[in-house]
Amino acid sequence: MADRPLRVLFVASECAPWVKTGGLADVVAALPPALAAEGLDVRVCLPFYRSIRREVGEAPACATVLGALVREALLPSGIRTYLIDAPWLFGRDGGPYQDGEGRDWPDNARRFGLFARIAATLASDETPLLWRPDVFHGHDWQAGLGPLWLKTALPGAAPSVMTIHNLAFQGLFAPEMVDALHLPPGVFAVEGAEFYGRLSFLKAGLHYADLLTTVSPTYAREIQEEAQGCGLHGLLTRRRDQLVGIVNGIDDRIWNPASDRLIRARYDRDNLAAKGVDKEAVQRRFDLTVDPARPLFGLVGRLTWQKGIDLVAEVGDRLAGVGGQLVVLGTGERGLEDALRTLAARHRGAVAVRIGFDERLAHEIEAGADAFLMPSRFEPCGLNQMYSQRYGTPPVARATGGLADTIRGVDPGGCEGSGFLFGEPTGGALWEAIERALASYRNPSCWARIMREGMDRDFSWAASARRYHALYDTLVAGP
Ligand code: ADP
Repeated sequence: MADRPLRVLFVASECAPWVKTGGLADVVAALPPALAAEGLDVRVCLPFYRSIRREVGEAPACATVLGALVREALLPSGIRTYLIDAPWLFGRDGGPYQDGEGRDWPDNARRFGLFARIAATLASDETPLLWRPDVFHGHDWQAGLGPLWLKTALPGAAPSVMTIHNLAFQGLFAPEMVDALHLPPGVFAVEGAEFYGRLSFLKAGLHYADLLTTVSPTYAREIQEEAQGCGLHGLLTRRRDQLVGIVNGIDDRIWNPASDRLIRARYDRDNLAAKGVDKEAVQRRFDLTVDPARPLFGLVGRLTWQKGIDLVAEVGDRLAGVGGQLVVLGTGERGLEDALRTLAARHRGAVAVRIGFDERLAHEIEAGADAFLMPSRFEPCGLNQMYSQRYGTPPVARATGGLADTIRGVDPGGCEGSGFLFGEPTGGALWEAIERALASYRNPSCWARIMREGMDRDFSWAASARRYHALYDTLVAGP
């Protein structure tokens, strides 16, 4: 192995731009090229969803594993992918996990059970491929059974890393799936893949993988505590010496206000005036009153309890009452979508809500808003707060997880820092942080300093890629 680059197989259920429901897709798209720049040979294994077939066409098949074809295609970044083509599991319209009505696919255990098993096979002596990885790197519950197969059944198995992008999604299934998936005997145990009588794909990954990572140092600590441990804090505390928090980066080719083709006007830290053009464009597009002086807050993301959207709905009236504006783009829980729609109806010209997923609008809001709201109850890493700092749109965020690790809070009355942090997950605490942001906003030179501090921060993947590389090295070097 000494004479060739270290080989890593990423195993994940999403990868931008082909299939994306959240930050996982961005990470799986951006980290492999950053590792390739470090000299590694990284490939990505994905389910061959119908949506990917539409993007890449048939794609040549290079092998058959457990009844599925393994196809090959290149991502736009040039990274090679192995696409697991099991049409009875992935050849359907709808999302990667849910149908068009937002219901989980009833066969998700079989879908991702087979996917992870095939991916694990590719990292063992049983692979039919000539390329064999030195490290299996699984992401989230959809890959969780991979380390289980590697540890308990496959000969010549590569060591494995599991990354937790969000501990709240665990892939819990009925115990009958243990037999249905032909899992090896003995794995359905507390010291294994059982979680209170159910089969947990994520727990399997966390129990059997050699190393665990998550996407920020603060989240790595938080998930060892009961409040945020989602029932797995005991396991994670026991494995704390193998658990590392590495903050995500952002893809500078896609999220850069100086080169972004999706926004109206491009700008950088030395030419902030053009950002006003983007603000006006957002105000027009969302039927808000066009006024450069009104502070415009943006929010893009899943409209869920996790993201603290109820807190935003709670402070919306007050924000409109002091002359602020709010634009929200997202999809999520029905009740929260409705609460925001009602808020917008009450404050035409000041509050606008677009329910949907739209990459272009996300870029426009990052560029056009003055400040960005992220009052998450928990946030493993979060990408939007990094994008917003990059776009000179200081975040107002709760000091949790990756938000705490990537935003330097401005002290009350101060002009140093890159955003506005608050502690309690309440509407009152969010409002108090918004007021601090408004006070700074009214002082243009102070605001420009805060904008520039965020724009100057290094959110590149290079530093994180170096840390992953070092971790892989410890695995292949042996004990
Ligand atoms: P999470 O992965 O928990 O959803 P992150 O902040 O880590 O949150 O990543 C969310 C990613 O998805 C960001 O790139 C964000 O811009 C994008 N995103 C979320 N909702 C939407 C939407 N409605 N339209 C466009 N992009 C969205």
